[in-house]
Amino acid sequence: MARLGGGRSDSGLLTLDEAAADAVSRVHPVAGMLELPLAEADGHVLAQALIAPRDLPPFANSAVDGYAVRFADLTTGAATRLPVLGRTMAGEAPAVLEQGAWRIFTGAPVPEGADTIVMQEDVVAENGAVALPAGIKRGANLRLAGEDVARRQEVLPVGRRLRPQDLGLLAALGLVEVTVRRRPRVALFSTGDELAEPGQTLGPGAIYDANRAMLRGMLLRAGAEVVDLGILRDEARGLEQRLREAATDCDLVLTSGGVSVGEADHVRDAVLACGTLDLWRVAIKPGKPIAIGSVTGTPFIGLPGNPVAVFVGFAFVAGPLLARLAGEAYRPPRAWPVRLGFAYARKPGRREFLRVSLEQGVDGAVVARRHPGEGAGSLASLAQSDGLVVLAEDVGQVDAGDSAPFLPYAELF
Ligand code: AMP
Ligand code: MG
Repeated sequence: MARLGGGRSDSGLLTLDEAAADAVSRVHPVAGMLELPLAEADGHVLAQALIAPRDLPPFANSAVDGYAVRFADLTTGAATRLPVLGRTMAGEAPAVLEQGAWRIFTGAPVPEGADTIVMQEDVVAENGAVALPAGIKRGANLRLAGEDVARRQEVLPVGRRLRPQDLGLLAALGLVEVTVRRRPRVALFSTGDELAEPGQTLGPGAIYDANRAMLRGMLLRAGAEVVDLGILRDEARGLEQRLREAATDCDLVLTSGGVSVGEADHVRDAVLACGTLDLWRVAIKPGKPIAIGSVTGTPFIGLPGNPVAVFVGFAFVAGPLLARLAGEAYRPPRAWPVRLGFAYARKPGRREFLRVSLEQGVDGAVVARRHPGEGAGSLASLAQSDGLVVLAEDVGQVDAGDSAPFLPYAELF
């Protein structure tokens, strides 16, 4: 796996790993559990390990359309001719095989006594008999009972976020419901006097609120339930009350904007009036300022305002915290090395995320091209790229042709 971090940060800054670990340490998995029918369980987190109640497959069956035989009836090193004594289709009860061959279809139970299946493509069938070629292997084309999953085996670990293939496995095991954790409820709002809702007319100096739409999507993908509180204006009046209400029935309060150091910001004052707040300077680019704390005991994260900083802060700090809240066994996103199609020089000290797209190079190797939108405010650069090239803290110059870790967006949400 490619190396993401390394080295120390600029003095006075928290490394991203320290920030993420601190954030995660502030929360506990939500307490509520529920039994969900399989049809509703996709994306939920398993509250307990899943033990197989039965073997899978439940009985020995044929992997092909063909003929079931007893290996002992085959002539070593030569073809064998056997009478066909009967047939079993998928869904029928198993037969009993005496000396001879038994016509069988994929998924049908293997006749008692048979231990080998010969594919129909390999035999010549005529006049109620089959000619079987030499060289058949004992046990060929047979799926044994329990060979995929043995009864009482743990098939899925506690903390697994269920995926469609997991649901398929549970259904195959005959399960109707699973015990999952309740989704964490996250109160979400944006701050800033310049923000307008899409659909409104833009006044002078106004921009549309982009972060909330993005954060909502990321939260849903992280398995959260979103309580959308809209745009909170940067005015003291009412703010504290809104925050208190949000915190009452949520597991996390998440905001963007207004956390830059030194900024006149009423959100910060309102949080402080009913909770705690640390203003972190994290050694990442973009996304340096992140506020973390609590509102009447409920965890609070204040991400910066610039959309790319929001994206990065969510991916690497809020994401791990949410995973813990959800009771999910967190697996850090995995990067793989790609070749850079660009040079870049910078002052070492912060972990930096460059938005890139992957292209096929002339020799077939994958090359990362940097998006021209480099600023922390460029939403187009996020929307028009495939993922992030990660420059570790101690990296200064990189050149075209160098290898660097690439994190596809699919790894993040
Ligand atoms: P701030 O962190 O509040 O100083 O904001 C930094 C930059 O991000 C400013 O250009 C803001 O206008 C912009 N910004 C803040 N919140 C949002 C938002 N919800 N959607 C889009 N841009 C935002
Ligand atoms: Mg602002």
